[in-house]
Amino acid sequence: QVRGVAGGSGGALLPGVKNILLVGAGKGGVGKSTVAVNLATSLAQHGAKVGLLDADFYGPSVPLMTGTADKRPVSPNGKTLDPLVAHGLKIMSIGFLVEADQALIWRGPMLHGALMQLVRDVNWGELDYLILDLPPGTGDVALTLSQSVRAAGAVLVTTPQDVALADVVRAKQMFDKVHIPVLGIVENMSQFVCPHCNKSTPIFNHGGGHKAAEMFGIPFLGEIPLDLKVREAGDSGVPVVVGHQDSPEAKAFQEVARAV
Ligand code: ADP
Repeated sequence: QVRGVAGGSGGALLPGVKNILLVGAGKGGVGKSTVAVNLATSLAQHGAKVGLLDADFYGPSVPLMTGTADKRPVSPNGKTLDPLVAHGLKIMSIGFLVEADQALIWRGPMLHGALMQLVRDVNWGELDYLILDLPPGTGDVALTLSQSVRAAGAVLVTTPQDVALADVVRAKQMFDKVHIPVLGIVENMSQFVCPHCNKSTPIFNHGGGHKAAEMFGIPFLGEIPLDLKVREAGDSGVPVVVGHQDSPEAKAFQEVARAV
């Protein structure tokens, strides 16, 4: 149960799902999918029943990041789909249903229909959390998708510098518009610790996420270092919280999962 959210959010939409959480970002490339995958996996490692729905229609990266890209969900009854299972998560992605080289040129209503199918026509079963990896940005697609599922809350991902911060302000406004509480902010790519000399360098600056959280009066959920292991883990399909459980990066993700 998400702190401060009474009764869960799956409700009539998904009776077996206690909480639907969104992971959003004001723009692409800040590590939204990386956070969604590692947050979901950390929650599952702590014993929660977790589903991960990749709703980033224009760039679904969850299949690659979870090592499921070459698999396809099956339908036991010709109507609904069984999610794939990896790293203790039930996983569904639009990426399983369209070929990787096929451009998605759908517009709002089709995307909305596809999302609702992925939410409703998948055999999620009983879940404590269904984590939704949203498309980046604050355009119509992200807005409509956020509005369609009755989410308990949203986690906002940002990098530390000021330009990214302006995008966070827009993202926060988007969630406010659809009355979804922002549970907090994660600052990703926040410090780079040189593996050779151990010196810490704030490549994308430092502290922006904290500043944004203070500005909005919402929790700061933690900072994730910029680290080669995180990128390699994403590309190899084994999340860093699984492959390098004791690394500072994995611990940072686990902290975020505890804070949500
Ligand atoms: P988004 O979903 O916001 O577009 P991704 O999660 O796909 O971003 O991340 C973009 C790229 O950056 C990926 O290759 C990912 O592995 C890498 N990445 C994300 N976070 C980190 C990090 N903390 N350290 C190193 N690489 C990262």
